[in-house]
Amino acid sequence: EAKRAGRQQYRFYSPEMNGRARSRLMLEESLRNAIENKDFHLVYQPQIHLETGRLRGFEALLRWEHRVAGTVAPNVFIPLLEETRLINRLGDWVLREGASQCSAWRPRFGDDLVISLNVSPVQFGMPQLVDDLRRVLEAFALPPQQLEVEVTESALMQDLELTREQLRQLRELGVRIAIDDFGTGYSSLAYLRHFELDTLKIDRLFVANMLDSPRDAAVVSTIIDLGRHLGLEVIAEGVETLAQRDWLLAHGCTFMQGFLVAPGLPVAKAEAFPGVVDWGALRAPAVLTST
Ligand code: C2E
Ligand code: MG
Ligand code: MG
Ligand code: MG
Repeated sequence: EAKRAGRQQYRFYSPEMNGRARSRLMLEESLRNAIENKDFHLVYQPQIHLETGRLRGFEALLRWEHRVAGTVAPNVFIPLLEETRLINRLGDWVLREGASQCSAWRPRFGDDLVISLNVSPVQFGMPQLVDDLRRVLEAFALPPQQLEVEVTESALMQDLELTREQLRQLRELGVRIAIDDFGTGYSSLAYLRHFELDTLKIDRLFVANMLDSPRDAAVVSTIIDLGRHLGLEVIAEGVETLAQRDWLLAHGCTFMQGFLVAPGLPVAKAEAFPGVVDWGALRAPAVLTST
């Protein structure tokens, strides 16, 4: 152990080590500390029924409060957490925190509220995910359908046998399953045939361009139709304008998420969020600030 620590020390100060590797090591070190000090929190982005404005639920999004750097976005630190496998520890915390919040919000938002939790491909590849979820459902006495697990296509494509078994167990547990960033990975229609899912989330890059690019519009409307034919819920991500909202509604999309309504909100602001959004009042993008 001492030897190992010594070697790391040596590596850390090694002159051959370039600046990038050094700052990576420092980032990794501060992530370890951050997990110990609980410097992470979740913000909650509303998911809205396009037609009625009714609140479906919230997607929980991870934030790192760094003493010097301020709020750090997940795209910066999730990849490193995945490489170091620290994501398994933090991921379990996310499940617990999200479930706890869902339970706390039942009196406020009712028993149909869905909390969506992002699960990394690393976590998805671990058999303990199902146990972790079962444990938090029990701990907070939550109906399983109030939790939704968001996985990306790449997570599903790692190992077909494992994926099949993992999804079977998640189904058996009763949690919802969503495919995140649908259309950006190595999409395979085969898994839509073989796996039972609940929700498709259209990646925000398609939504951002759909009003200008006929190709993106074609992709979006095809995903919407695909979801409808398969009996899945479809959530468009990254909706920023009323024009996008109107287009999605006209093309049969059921739910949206995006800055038009709200970014990820801290708990107190999410709690104050209305059960029904008044579309008429939304003339301009929301001015609510993130985190
Ligand atoms: P995602 O799951 O696809 O989450 C949607 C991202 O789009 C979020 O970025 C959200 O803030 C952003 N977004 C939502 N609406 C809009 C909009 O109208 N316009 C624009 N420009 N952006 C919008 P965020 O929070 O930075 O998260 C980035 C990614 O990090 C997430 O993508 C997800 O893959 C990952 N992530 C977040 N939280 C967790 C977590 O708890 N665990 C894991 N494993 N990954 C997470
Ligand atoms: Mg997501
Ligand atoms: Mg997404
Ligand atoms: Mg994403």
